[in-house]
Amino acid sequence: MECKKDKNTAMCNCSYNPCPRKGICCECLQYHLNSSQVPACFFPDDVESGYDRSIENFIKVYQERKHL
Ligand code: SF4
Repeated sequence: MECKKDKNTAMCNCSYNPCPRKGICCECLQYHLNSSQVPACFFPDDVESGYDRSIENFIKVYQERKHL
């Protein structure tokens, strides 16, 4: 299966542009899960830009907004 990096990058809301994993979703997910985090796309843009990608923050935001 071919990597869809270009297509993924076009949809990615992550504002940390120097990241070498941008658009490589399998690496992005693994990187963050290893630190008990989730990727930027789990968060609304205004929260993502704060770079707190912890699972705790994801749950907090989800419970506050009831949708993402
Ligand atoms: S969410 Fe994390 S790993 Fe994924 S592109 Fe952004 S900074 Fe990189």
